[in-house]
Amino acid sequence: MAREPRRARTAGIIAGGGPLHELSLATEIYRTCRATIDARGPGRLDSARVAIGELAAVEPELLVYAWEAVVSGGRDTAARLEVEWHPARQTCANCGELKERAPGNWLRICPACGGPVRIAGGDELDVIDLSYTPDEEETAK
Ligand SMILES: [Zn+2]
Repeated sequence: MAREPRRARTAGIIAGGGPLHELSLATEIYRTCRATIDARGPGRLDSARVAIGELAAVEPELLVYAWEAVVSGGRDTAARLEVEWHPARQTCANCGELKERAPGNWLRICPACGGPVRIAGGDELDVIDLSYTPDEEETAK
């Protein structure tokens, strides 16, 4: 798969409709990271890890592009965003966990027995980890 030039892609996120959702989410994630670091003393963000659920309506790839646009040019310009993908689990009361479901098919009826299906997880949208370098460590090198 050919990768589009990053500049064109970033411009699309900002100017085009739709992925604004990811852009505002990336901004929010970055704000959360900065607030966490600032509370512990000055430092530079190295990376952040977020849990994104299958049902959270977020495109991980777009989120990473949006993130790069958000941190670009600032003090944390090299900070990476890692996305941990959390699929939703479908469980039938009779058959247990369903492995065969088609992605994106949220009909809550078991394909095997017709029984009701419970959906668990998949709605995660959390900053679960971040790493940073304190400023004093940086100057001590
Ligand atoms: Zn079943």
